Amino acid sequence: MRADEMVNRYFAEAAETIDLGDEFHEVLQTSYRETDVQVPVHLDNGGLAVYRGYRVQHNGARGPYKGGIRYHPAVDINEVRALASLMTWKTALLDLPFGGAKGGVNVDPGDLSERELEALTRRFTASISHVLGPYRDVPAPDMNTNPQVMAWLMDAYSAKEGYTPAIVTGKPIAFGGAPGRREATGRGVMYCLERALERQGRTLDGVRIAIQGFGNVGTWAARTAVEMGATVIAVSDIGGGVRRDDGLDVDACCAVVAAGRSVADAVDELDADPLAGGDVLTIDCDVLIPAALGEVITAENAEDVRAEWIVEGANNPTTPDADMLLHARGVQIIPDILANGGGVTGSYFEWTQNIQQFRWDEEEFNKRLRKRMRTGVDTTLDAAERWGVRPRRAAFAVAMERVAEAAHMRGYV
Ligand code: GLU
Repeated sequence: MRADEMVNRYFAEAAETIDLGDEFHEVLQTSYRETDVQVPVHLDNGGLAVYRGYRVQHNGARGPYKGGIRYHPAVDINEVRALASLMTWKTALLDLPFGGAKGGVNVDPGDLSERELEALTRRFTASISHVLGPYRDVPAPDMNTNPQVMAWLMDAYSAKEGYTPAIVTGKPIAFGGAPGRREATGRGVMYCLERALERQGRTLDGVRIAIQGFGNVGTWAARTAVEMGATVIAVSDIGGGVRRDDGLDVDACCAVVAAGRSVADAVDELDADPLAGGDVLTIDCDVLIPAALGEVITAENAEDVRAEWIVEGANNPTTPDADMLLHARGVQIIPDILANGGGVTGSYFEWTQNIQQFRWDEEEFNKRLRKRMRTGVDTTLDAAERWGVRPRRAAFAVAMERVAEAAHMRGYV
């Protein structure tokens, strides 16, 4: 099933929950605008590589379009479409004054030199800049993009339009970035889990966590987990995984990946046991955090998942069939549009601060982030109880109600 069809399945069931009128379906389900561009890059060896770039603006009823840009060979229009709509529901659920968008280029950035990556980013920005703007569409980092890429994007846009820090979030702290934004997605994952457990009278103390994907989201979720008293017993990255049942040394794991290596190549120095990359999903643990690619928990492996909780740090990590199987088995899922919403919430803080030429310190940033994530959890789980549905369906339904109301009042529907 295509990624956009999966999201449509979640949309359809939530539409039933809120009894969404037929006239809303097409407007809320399809994208407002899809920009699809050719991205030629002159290579260092004199050759030319031609990539495809996308910016999909799904819905802007509640504010400027907002969402990341990813660089990955698997990027295609269907994936970007699905991810753009997830951004609409994410910003609405967290009550941020944004719509939803997503962008991407079908490139493996590992194949490019720094100069080629900069050229690609500047070309792509120039090609889509007519649909961007601080009150129109504000990109951010996503898979394989980072503050440096955002800096090039801002510079390319500002060269044309004048100094515009609010055109993009996730920038370097050196100019316009917000202290705390880089860590915000991973931290937000843990703030959600903390609140969800608290509602059951539990704490994070000694909770055993496994993390699939050890990039920006995974590493900061792991560090925050340890800070909050949990134990990280397994992590994996693209090269494989490691486990240690009495708890990994998370700082040491982070140092390994920061040096450009895989944790799997550092088993001895981490004093850990090797673990095949895929096995982290089915390891015996209390909480599983998928924090990498989409569609990793499927009907094939869902029966083998042993976690009591899944907190979706990645976007769209669970296929709809797996979602139903896990729910039937009593596995509790904090869905992506809530769990990984700390990133875009941090982006909202950065954007408002850019507009006001103002900055909070990291402590203030984290305090406000935690408060918003806790409210998101309460809103979702209260709605799930009220409607008697699982949290994912409740999260979509709350978000869709908010977007539908704005779309109606603005006269779109
Ligand atoms: N790429 C992140 C996400 O999927 C952040 C988007 C943003 O900050 O705009 O939520």
